[in-house]
Order: sequence, then C-alpha cells, then structure tokens
Amino acid sequence: MAADVPPRSSPYDLSFPALQALMDQWGEPPFRARQVWEWLYVHLADDWEQMTNLPRSLRERLAERYPLLSPPIQATRVSSDGLTRKDLLRLADGETVEAVLMRYERRRTACISTQVGCPLGCVFCATGQVGFRRNLSAGEIVAQALHFARVLGAEGGSSGRSLSHVVLMGMGEPLLNYEATVEAIRRLSDPQGFRLGQRRITLSTVGIVPEMDRLASESNPWGGPLQITLAVSLHAATDDLRNRLVPVNRRYGLDALFAACRRYFARTGRRLSFEWVLIAGVNDSPDQAEALVRRLEGLTAHVNLIPLNPTPAYDGHPSSREAITAFTAVLERRGVPFTVRLRRGTEIQAGCGQLRGSL
Ligand code: SAH
Ligand code: SF4
Repeated sequence: MAADVPPRSSPYDLSFPALQALMDQWGEPPFRARQVWEWLYVHLADDWEQMTNLPRSLRERLAERYPLLSPPIQATRVSSDGLTRKDLLRLADGETVEAVLMRYERRRTACISTQVGCPLGCVFCATGQVGFRRNLSAGEIVAQALHFARVLGAEGGSSGRSLSHVVLMGMGEPLLNYEATVEAIRRLSDPQGFRLGQRRITLSTVGIVPEMDRLASESNPWGGPLQITLAVSLHAATDDLRNRLVPVNRRYGLDALFAACRRYFARTGRRLSFEWVLIAGVNDSPDQAEALVRRLEGLTAHVNLIPLNPTPAYDGHPSSREAITAFTAVLERRGVPFTVRLRRGTEIQAGCGQLRGSL
C-alpha cells in the first residue's frame, strides 16, 4: 500500500483514491478522505490548522508530509489599472512559474502554466526563448488556480468561488505534459471539489497532433467527452510561413493539424478557437487571411487575433491598425467570427507570450 502513496511535494498531487489510500494506511476512518478533500478544494484551506474537524494528530501528520499548501509567492506585479496581476510562484525544488489573474468582461480568469519553460521555441514567445526546464505535476498546475481563487476570496468573494475561468495558456505546452494536464483539468472540474465547469477551461496548444486525438478521446466519469475549449495557436495558414514561426510545424504540418481539429470537433462537438499573433509585415497580409479562411472551411471556429507583444529576443512589431483592419475585413466578408484581443498586462510583461519565469 505504501508504494501507492509516495510522499510528494503537494497534497494537490493526490487523487481522491490516493488520499483514501493514505487515510486507510494511517488507520483513519473512511470519511476522513472526504473531509480533507473538501478542505482542500471547497474551503481552499491554506493551512492544515484550519481543518478543525480533523484530529490534531492527523493535522500534524499531514503537515509533516505536506508542509506547504499554497505555493509561496516570490514576487507580484499589478498593472496600473489594477486589473491584471502576475505572480511568480516558487515550486518545491526552487523552480518558479508565472501565473496571471485577469479581470475583464465580468470574468476573473487565471492563466496558468503547465511547464517550467517550453521546448518548442516559437520565435516570438518569451517562454520559448528560455527553453525547457521541466514539466509541472498535476498538483502544481492545480495549485496555481487555487492560489488565485484564494486571492479573490480574500478580496471579498465567497470562498474563492469567484474565479470564473481558467486558461492553460501560461508557460509551456500543455500537450507535452499530457497526463498532468488532463489530471489537473479533471481535478479543477471535480463536482465534489473545486467545481469549475469544463466549459470555463481553455487548453491552448501549438498543435501536437497525436495528443489532440488523445484529448478528444478522453471522457468524463459522468459520460461524454471533456467539455473544455481547445485553442490552437496557429499564427500562419501556409506551411512555409508557419515552419518559420512555429518550428513544431515541420513535424505536424497544417494538413495534419487541421485534420486533427476536424476529428476533435466531430468527437466533442466543441467549437475550436484559433490564436493568431499579428506581426507587422510577417503574417498580417490579406493573403494569409484568405488562406486562413480556406483552412477553416467546414469547421465551427473562432479566431482570436493578438497583436504581437514585445519579447526580448524577437524584433518583430505588432501589426498596424490599418493592417489589422485589412486582415479582419477578409474574415468579416467570409463570415469567420473573430475577436481582436485587447493588449492586457503588457506593461507588467504578463501579456501572451511574455511569461518567462522571472519578474
Ligand atoms: N504552448 C501553448 C500554450 C501557451 S499559450 C501554445 O502555444 O498555445 C501562449 C499563447 O500566447 C499562444 O497562443 C502563443 O502563440 C501566444 N504568444 C506567444 N508569444 C506571443 C507574443 N510575443 N505576443 C502575443 N502572443 C504570443
Ligand atoms: Fe511553447 Fe507555446 Fe511559447 Fe510556442 S508559444 S514556445 S508552444 S509556450
């Protein structure tokens, strides 16, 4: 039994059956697991001492095994309008990840990381410019969302229920850390735990085709596929251009990527999102917009256009207003729904692609 419950850095790494096994191993009655689970995911406790309906001896034992409930904040930056906050969170081994809280359109969205760094090297992305250090565990992913739920709770929301959305769009490529990412999604949407609706969770991928298929085949314990939104970081609609911007395109080219998108939609019925960083003179021509429209034919999709945010090692510029208008005119004419994303948090380097694990 002990082998099933390895000592780990975070209690959020325990699945419910693993927590049950731990309680059993420690000679606790079966209902303890549910009590602990509710303290962790419903009441968002950040100290074992708060769990007053547990015997002191159990609280002490848990505290010894898992000294830290919430990740320590190494640094925080808040935008001047107060709406965006970026925290650098320290992990048990001293690595750090960034997580961002954004408040807009009546949403309170946590943008969280799945890896320390990223191995895929998209040319304009600060995380890619740092390289890859390691995967996060499921618990380390979940802890970032709970952290912001607590922050919001402390501001007056009711026990953190005010975190409304989670986007896996921070540092790293979620589908290269597949198991931990899916476990984190299941944990956050557990109806007996944190209870975030899966429709409020977005996973952004650069397009790891086999793992997109694997994701499409996941199902919920209560039936049906996962209901999350899949966002695909596209940025170019021709292979020659995408190969240059997003090196992984040489492995999974656009034909394979869009075939996977179609399979994903057929299986889940979920509308896909496509992300497109607008870079002046690189991918903002009406020709690229036309090529994008052709690629999207027959798919139910939404396009998010994001003017390039500055990063240290890329000298591209965001598209001009005129170029954006010409690009979106094509989408409009062809009936493709799109949003031009407001630039948020750029002054605190919390914008898309600006996260690099130090402040
Ligand atoms: N690896 C995943 C998840 C990270 S999401 C992915 O790439 O989808 C990060 C999002 O920010 C992606 O859509 C990415 O393309 C975008 N991005 C990266 N660098 C950017 C930059 N400099 N300006 C604007 N958006 C950027
Ligand atoms: Fe990695 Fe995504 Fe950045 Fe590309 S955009 S380097 S996949 S984090």
